[in-house]
Amino acid sequence: MKSGRDAAALKSQRFYKTVAWRHVRRLALQRDHYLCQMCLSNKRIRRARDVHHVQPLELRPDLALELSNLMSLCRYCHERTKQRGKASRVPEGVRIIKI
Ligand SMILES: [Zn+2]
Repeated sequence: MKSGRDAAALKSQRFYKTVAWRHVRRLALQRDHYLCQMCLSNKRIRRARDVHHVQPLELRPDLALELSNLMSLCRYCHERTKQRGKASRVPEGVRIIKI
């Protein structure tokens, strides 16, 4: 039996393969100069390889392709945001700026 969470995960896996996501992901990386924004806020320069949804995809699918909801992160920081779970939406020390 599949739980609702599994279904959401399957759905998001499909989302990450869409052309629209690949496009907007690249735009986010370019906007952030391919630098991890969390490391940057701690005065560290680290190349970003992932793009993180500040408001989780499962909760706000309407913001899935919204650049202001995306943040470039290195693998390490991205893992940390996942581990912290759903309690905190915005990583510490990071401000979301609408452009
Ligand atoms: Zn980082």
